[in-house]
Amino acid sequence: MAYTTRDGSAWMPEYLTRIDAATCIGCGRCYKVCSRDVMHLHGVDEAGQVLGRVEEGEDEDFDGELNRMIMIVDNAGACVGCGACARVCPKNCQTHVPADRIAA
Ligand code: SF4
Ligand code: SF4
Repeated sequence: MAYTTRDGSAWMPEYLTRIDAATCIGCGRCYKVCSRDVMHLHGVDEAGQVLGRVEEGEDEDFDGELNRMIMIVDNAGACVGCGACARVCPKNCQTHVPADRIAA
């Protein structure tokens, strides 16, 4: 499949497929620039177990189990591969895959 921009120039979307839970600091920058609702902040406990999604503006501590927060790609199918999230991540913890190398 050939991908193009509006003027017909060649364009290869780079889809966000994964965020490394070990290096993500949960800063939220990727979430703020994404127009597609692809990733969401989640709380994890000391063992790295995911406790649940943190809703925007809420101060959830998951009954005292919260150790830190990480961003999780939980709506990958909505990504348009714009690359904006990669540009703002301070930890280089995202994996992007070109559209011609991703399984449908
Ligand atoms: S590549 Fe674009 S659409 Fe996909 S998750 Fe990143 S910011 Fe959102
Ligand atoms: S910008 Fe990077 S470090 Fe910050 S929440 Fe997103 S993936 Fe994690």
